[in-house]
Amino acid sequence: MTNKSENYCYFCGRKEKEVHILIAGASTFICDNCVENATNIIAMEEKINNNHILEGFNKLTPKKIKQELDKVVIGQTNAKKVLSVAIYNHYKRLLLDDKEITLNKNNVLMVGPTGVGKTLLAKTLANIFQLPFAIADATALTEAGYVGDDVETIITRLIQDANGDIALAEKGIIYIDEIDKVAKRSNGLSITRDVSGEGVQQALLKIIEGTEASVPMSLGRKNPNQDMVKVDTSNILFIVGGAFPGIEDIVRRRFNTRGIGFGNQGKQKTLEKKEAFNLVETSDIIEYGLIPEFVGRLSSIVSLEPLELNDFIQILTKPTNAIIKQYIKIFEMDNVELVFTKGALKALAKKGLEKEMGARGLSNLLEKMMTDLMFEIPSNKKIIKVEITEDVVNYMKTPLITSKDKKERKNA
Ligand code: ADP
Repeated sequence: MTNKSENYCYFCGRKEKEVHILIAGASTFICDNCVENATNIIAMEEKINNNHILEGFNKLTPKKIKQELDKVVIGQTNAKKVLSVAIYNHYKRLLLDDKEITLNKNNVLMVGPTGVGKTLLAKTLANIFQLPFAIADATALTEAGYVGDDVETIITRLIQDANGDIALAEKGIIYIDEIDKVAKRSNGLSITRDVSGEGVQQALLKIIEGTEASVPMSLGRKNPNQDMVKVDTSNILFIVGGAFPGIEDIVRRRFNTRGIGFGNQGKQKTLEKKEAFNLVETSDIIEYGLIPEFVGRLSSIVSLEPLELNDFIQILTKPTNAIIKQYIKIFEMDNVELVFTKGALKALAKKGLEKEMGARGLSNLLEKMMTDLMFEIPSNKKIIKVEITEDVVNYMKTPLITSKDKKERKNA
């Protein structure tokens, strides 16, 4: 072992006492400062290579993109198709090098109840392309100068997700949720938002259209001295979503006023809510209270289906990272086999459906049910199998537990 006072960084030559940390290798040393510098060099190199994103795109087709979405999101076939085409064309747009023709940006509006996969779809798209992604809630945004988040903060979040790489952030995806809540208060619809909603739409319009926005590099309190950067938003793909409660009545009215009857023998029958949602078009969204210029920037409108019992069962079990798979993994790490019977899955799905929160309620339901088990199991090394049955879900009964001595215990 060398004398401590003689150790020094082989990169910068500073002695151990001159640096914060000196890390020992097989026969050399490096200081914390040089490690940091090296990390920055690697990060820079990655930024330069970020064209890999465009190259990777060449291997994908809308069909393949949909197949990737299928691995994560259950159902929503129509939305998946629209989004796959939108992002495919978005990339064509980025790649096109033509002096005469430029392709319009294909921003998407998703209309559908809460918890059916709108955010998940947008996020998964970003994952497939390894693109920076930011989510914003339209209700939290305000026009510049008002209390709340400026629209620009969304772009800052995108930069953060891109690890500070502005060029990469400029190709990112932004999902804006609850866009229906910034509709103008009009048409007698009960929208719990004041008139400033229109201001938010105007501000969003600017970044969606494409502008050179000047935004802070990091979030936090507004500080006049903080670093501002310029971000060109013209190549950022915007996906906006909302539940648009009540829009079915606008659709129904449109059909009635156009004299298309849905009845038989002259008796007018109203459109089913689900059917009405599938028929939503630009004019309905404008009547709902989004300004025409804003809606005009959303070239595709797609409605998402409410989820049904079978979808819930699949959501629990099928996606790559399905919640049930996660619990099975947690137990497996303690050498315990976790089994959910078909009846248990159905009962869980049914409970989830009753919550009327879409699939959002499922993980919460499971967590409540599994907490006690996850507390007890790791300290009992004899347990090798836990079976969750319908009764466990419905009546909070203790699951079937198999111990090493093979005796099965059935607790009431
Ligand atoms: P929203 O439509 O309100 O944006 P989210 O996409 O945020 O809903 O869904 C909330 C959660 O519910 C997701 O994180 C996911 O776990 C689950 N989920 C919702 N819809 C689906 C779906 N179609 N397929 C798989 N999981 C879903």
